Amino acid sequence: MLFQIIHKHTVDRCYSAAGYGSSRFMDTIAKLFSKKFHNDTGVTIVNAVIDGPGHCMYMIVETDDHQKLTHFIEPIHDAENEVVPVSDMMYLMSLKD
Ligand SMILES: [Zn+2]
Repeated sequence: MLFQIIHKHTVDRCYSAAGYGSSRFMDTIAKLFSKKFHNDTGVTIVNAVIDGPGHCMYMIVETDDHQKLTHFIEPIHDAENEVVPVSDMMYLMSLKD
């Protein structure tokens, strides 16, 4: 199952403000993108893009159980996270040929 996670944080809570190697960044964003964390949570990031100036990140993630998403977003739980089930449009369109 695919889900879109729309993550938004405020400027004063920006993860990169302390630097990309800072403990706050490593404990949140770097952890979120680590293979170990994907294995531990059972959630894999399929794709992710950011709107840096808008302090917003859009992730497409895949999991076999939506309950696992609660554990997955734990590192970034102190910000706004909207989770929506989605479908792979590229795959759906390829079925029409
Ligand atoms: Zn930010």
